[in-house]
Amino acid sequence: MPIIAPPVEKLPKPTLLIGDRRIDDSSGGAVDHVYGATGKTTGNVTLAGAREIDIAVQAARSALPAWRATTPDQRRELLFRAAQVFRENSEELVAISQIDNSMPVFAAAGGPANAADAFSYYGGWADKLVGDVIPTWPTPSLDYATLNPYGVVGIIIPWNGPIYAVGMTVAPALAAGNCVLLKPPELAPYAAIRIGELFLEAGFPPGVLNVVTAGPEGGQAMVAHPGIDKIHFTGSGTTAKRILDTAKDVLKPVGLELGGKSANIIFADADLNNAAMQAIMGMQGSGQGCINGTRVLVERPVYEEVLALVQGVLGTLEVGDPLVASTFFGPVINAAAAERIVRVIDTAKSEGARVVAGGERLGGELSDGYFIAPTVFADVDNSSPLARDEIFGPVVAVIPFDTEEEAVRIANDSPFGLAAYVQTSNLKRAHAVAQQLDVGLIWINGFLGIPTSVPFGGVKQSGWGRLGGFDGIREFTQPKNVFVNLM
Ligand code: NAD
Repeated sequence: MPIIAPPVEKLPKPTLLIGDRRIDDSSGGAVDHVYGATGKTTGNVTLAGAREIDIAVQAARSALPAWRATTPDQRRELLFRAAQVFRENSEELVAISQIDNSMPVFAAAGGPANAADAFSYYGGWADKLVGDVIPTWPTPSLDYATLNPYGVVGIIIPWNGPIYAVGMTVAPALAAGNCVLLKPPELAPYAAIRIGELFLEAGFPPGVLNVVTAGPEGGQAMVAHPGIDKIHFTGSGTTAKRILDTAKDVLKPVGLELGGKSANIIFADADLNNAAMQAIMGMQGSGQGCINGTRVLVERPVYEEVLALVQGVLGTLEVGDPLVASTFFGPVINAAAAERIVRVIDTAKSEGARVVAGGERLGGELSDGYFIAPTVFADVDNSSPLARDEIFGPVVAVIPFDTEEEAVRIANDSPFGLAAYVQTSNLKRAHAVAQQLDVGLIWINGFLGIPTSVPFGGVKQSGWGRLGGFDGIREFTQPKNVFVNLM
């Protein structure tokens, strides 16, 4: 079946949304957006340059005094309204986000519900951001500390889950009383722009949320701008280093949510059918997820059995059109990504790696898009690039182990520390292993999602700080202490 043409008539105008103004004549130029499943252009996207970032900062700073002065219950109700907006427009937002990044239905469908949950959750925090009354001396005196917004925050998000990223970052930032410059990437601009439009319709004052699609130039302009008080960045470590380089010159605080190379440890006593499915989930979203379990560690007695189960299940999962509901694996984001991933696969093959599944770019009816067969390498050495680098494609590396200690050692032997997964029927062991893993997030015996209420983030080169839960709103506030002389 030929690939279905996406409903481009549903796309918002791909221009900047600053205050309530649209800007399409930008100093940052414009770039074509390409749909990953067909390789066809969907529109020409305006990119913010330094001039437009400055205009957006002025809009946000003008809106800030009134937004900061909104009462907590007003902010709460407006965030609840935003949650409702995600629910009411879920179908449209899913369709737009699928054009953004060509994720299949099953991966894209939950985005608006996740964002709705985040806006409800953080709306609930708006009236609960209590401070502390702190014992001090000499007495009599009174000391209290309150949590205050930074002011204007710049939020830079990646292309792989823009709606989800908006929920996890913009919701706590707004709930805390900040105004926001949201920078979606040029590779996936549409859903964020539509969210900006919907927020204006929902009653957010112009300037509180500004959507400034941009590439590196606009991103750097945000980091350097003195009118932005904090940057929150989600993306790759390479870009994070560039951001920190610029941020150091203006001593700007930066929150970082970065990549991973997460271990999925399968013990011999696990439910092996479930474990095999969890191994395949390492490639879900065609491997374009920060938390994917891309290193699959399998205890030696069940090693070949797990490989066979993975092969068997993979044979039943469809690779193809992201708009067809039964598709499990869609394309990767663009031509450059496909070429890079194929290079990684080919290099590993040329060095003698054992390919258990996939290992090639797909042709035929899929040849215009960027489809790569889900690829499983077995007997991978944990020191090889297959196990060390974030490939961000549908590739997992399977590694055998003999003891619990060895599994923990291999899992922790990585520059990253975002997530880990443990598959075992021995819950005592599961907790013991979880204690020893140097990561921010652990799922045991299956992936149940990422509730907004839990702290999300990594250690080592996977990031600084946390989104989600109370930590998520702390990320967008800073304490102010007041010491009162009562003598
Ligand atoms: P990326 O680093 O290329 O881009 C991320 C964002 O930074 C985009 O908006 C991009 O336009 C912008 N950008 C690029 N250069 C910039 C510069 N010099 N200054 C300022 N901004 C700049 O990452 P990506 O390819 O969009 O996303 C994939 C990466 O994101 C992976 O490493 C993935 O693991 C990571 N990620 C992490 C999380 C998390 O929560 N930890 C979530 C999703 C993705």
